[in-house]
Amino acid sequence: MGKIVKGKCIDISSEGKGVVKAGRDIIFCDGLFPNEEADIEILYQRAGVHFGKVRKLYTMSKNRIQPKCKICTACGGCQYQQIDYKTQLLFKTNRVKNAIKRIGHIDTRVNDCIGADHPYNYRNKIQVPYAKDRKGNIVYGFYKENSHEIIPNKECAIEDKRAASILWDIKELLKEHKISVYNEDSDKGILRYVLIRTSHHFKELMVVLITSEMNFPGQRNFVDALLKLHPEITTVVENVNSRHTNVILGNKEKVLFGPGYIKDTICGLTFEISASSFFQVNPEQVEKLYKTALNLINSDKNQVVLDAYSGVGTIGLIASKNAKKVISVEIVKDAVKNAIENAKRNNVNNIEFHCGDAGEFIDNYDGDLDIVIMDPPRKGSDEKFLSTLINKRVKQIIYVSCDPETLARDLEYLSSVYTVTYVQPVDMFPQTAHVETVACLQLKE
Ligand code: SAH
Repeated sequence: MGKIVKGKCIDISSEGKGVVKAGRDIIFCDGLFPNEEADIEILYQRAGVHFGKVRKLYTMSKNRIQPKCKICTACGGCQYQQIDYKTQLLFKTNRVKNAIKRIGHIDTRVNDCIGADHPYNYRNKIQVPYAKDRKGNIVYGFYKENSHEIIPNKECAIEDKRAASILWDIKELLKEHKISVYNEDSDKGILRYVLIRTSHHFKELMVVLITSEMNFPGQRNFVDALLKLHPEITTVVENVNSRHTNVILGNKEKVLFGPGYIKDTICGLTFEISASSFFQVNPEQVEKLYKTALNLINSDKNQVVLDAYSGVGTIGLIASKNAKKVISVEIVKDAVKNAIENAKRNNVNNIEFHCGDAGEFIDNYDGDLDIVIMDPPRKGSDEKFLSTLINKRVKQIIYVSCDPETLARDLEYLSSVYTVTYVQPVDMFPQTAHVETVACLQLKE
């Protein structure tokens, strides 16, 4: 057991851990919230900072609640399940405010975080590892934070409710049909993960069996039995990942039942989602996020819009309704393919798609450009893209970000030429410390 330290939580970190000052030491502690006092067990140290967990709680925050999920601290996925939703939103607003002020050195108003109407059971995608425990029983659940040990769990508080009974029945059917589960140490066994995707707007549900080899024995009967128990499943896909790796999905795929994809709609447009497609995980909040971003564009339909870091083209396709033309750029080839299909499916003709690095693309682009919408991954954008934005003097930039700290860094860079006129956090991931932000920049006169 690690050293025990008594301390008071004075703040919440950007990762959602309680910040405790004990003498000269700083401790980041899971499941501890401002004003709470506790005995904390120090688990490990990294870069001069201690990380710990609560051993005994002395004073409780008045906003603390009973979490819905028993394993929420061990799993580490939901940093905020033990605090009420109103306070979660406050933490998120403050995280964005702090980043904008302290990292971005920008003096601008940050609006209160837009919350969710349904802060539980919102996720439309869940991926679950299956393995054997020490006694030889098949278990499934979540990896303990920073480890490969599975904590068995029947129901996750943020996943779509339809997933739980399917995951359970798969475990039972594996036993019945004598299908083995994968063992990471020996690299033997068949089933590695199950991925479930649900559609919000259609009665469609996809099960992806991630296996170590194609066409495993007993497959047909296993899938038939699963479909019999769950007629709500509209497609089953086998994805083969034979590599000894942490990456969940492999490159080979076979459709075992149905069309191999499900459909869903965002802001009135329909998208096909296959096993490996990137698709936003919170179907209700994504509409609020996109509307927040796109409402910033004035309704002059004569503008050319660049959708950078476009994924499967969702934002650009929605923006195309009110634009002269949309140019979209994305680095992942398959996502661009999906985006082209999505444009056809929705009869959008004023959009073009490019596959490549956003910075390279914009640097070489010499056509008209009025507005840039950018939605980079967590690490933010890069100097090439941002410096080109500065040189091009685009009228308006709408920055959609999933990491307030890298957003603030990039905004500071752009602030030599652009004024930040609007910052709006949106809660796409209730119960977790993650927060999405929309920022608007206007070219300085
Ligand atoms: N706008 C989309 C996707 C955002 S996720 C949506 O709302 O669904 C960020 C995307 O940026 C990913 O699809 C990723 O593949 C892409 N990306 C990452 N680095 C990139 C780069 N250097 N140039 C272009 N796209 C990139």
